[in-house]
Amino acid sequence: MMQLNYGEHKLFTILEVEYKRNTIKMKKNKLLKTLSILFIAITLFYSCSSDDPIVVNSSPAAFIVSNGTLTENTATIFWTVATDADGDTVSYTVNLDGTAVKSEISALTYSFTGLTAATNYTGTVVASDGKGGSASAVFSFTSAAALTTVSYDITSILSKFDGIDAVSYAVSGNTVTFITTDLPNHTSPYWSTSHPLYEPYNGTNSNWNKNPGAIGEQNITFTMTLNPAEAAIKSATPLGPIGISRNGIVFFNQYAGPNNQPLTNEINSFDQWLGHPARTQYHYHIEPSYLTTTFGKDAFLGLLSDGFPVYGPLENGTTITNADLDDYHGHTSVTSDFPEGIYHYHITNEDPYLNGNGFFGSAGTITR
Ligand SMILES: [Zn+2]
Ligand SMILES: [Zn+2]
Repeated sequence: MMQLNYGEHKLFTILEVEYKRNTIKMKKNKLLKTLSILFIAITLFYSCSSDDPIVVNSSPAAFIVSNGTLTENTATIFWTVATDADGDTVSYTVNLDGTAVKSEISALTYSFTGLTAATNYTGTVVASDGKGGSASAVFSFTSAAALTTVSYDITSILSKFDGIDAVSYAVSGNTVTFITTDLPNHTSPYWSTSHPLYEPYNGTNSNWNKNPGAIGEQNITFTMTLNPAEAAIKSATPLGPIGISRNGIVFFNQYAGPNNQPLTNEINSFDQWLGHPARTQYHYHIEPSYLTTTFGKDAFLGLLSDGFPVYGPLENGTTITNADLDDYHGHTSVTSDFPEGIYHYHITNEDPYLNGNGFFGSAGTITR
């Protein structure tokens, strides 16, 4: 074995330390180099991604569908705009009961045709922005009931007008023309005091207040159908005569002129038989108590100009209220004059008394 002296040993030790130092230095440099490359790579990656941002698409905003006109076989719906925050063009697809019936339209309305009467339909309108964004709104509607096409025949009721001094009538084809003088066959304080039917007010209204009018002869003509039927589109009743009662006095509606005011003030000028004149034209707005006293509270009282009969407030011993009647103040049932059943109006003791939202059938012509 070789023996080293002290000097040799020291030299080796110095060389060894120097070598180790260099190795550590080299490792350090290598690490720094690697870290630098990594840093550049990360910087490059992030700087690249900030130059080319990731696009996030906004979907169209929520919107609302509402119903328009509904008939027995058509329906129209409308919807509000589904606003797109990115300004993308939004188109709409209409689905009815799960089937697309119209795709990608720009309109904000759609009309369905060929529907079944009285049927509930549901669907959705889907708003799409063409970039995968969408919003959906639901709707539902019920198509209108099929129109009653029943046509009645009122010929048998005409005899109720026979023997009335004020009234004459003539039938031509399926129409009847009434001519009335509109002079009541009962007493009233509105007759001139020299008339045999003049009678001072003896009714029950403590607020009775005679209006300035007086009963005068008229020449009013009604031409109406003998086969009344429900009108597809109902028309409002006018001010003035809307029908003829069985003693020839004209019926007025539930309003006072001008501009459809309530009857509040007029009621105090109704005489003991609940009629009064407008200037010289005598008329009934509410139950003509002379007729219901004479013929009964459940009796036929006259016709509106659409040809449908008017009855008193009693039916089969029960007092009819507004709640028993439709919007036009009538209903369909058997009456003593029409055992097969007929649509008819009832006079009730509360507003609108005789007629509600207009004629149920098509009004005939009235001239005066
Ligand atoms: Zn009046
Ligand atoms: Zn009835």
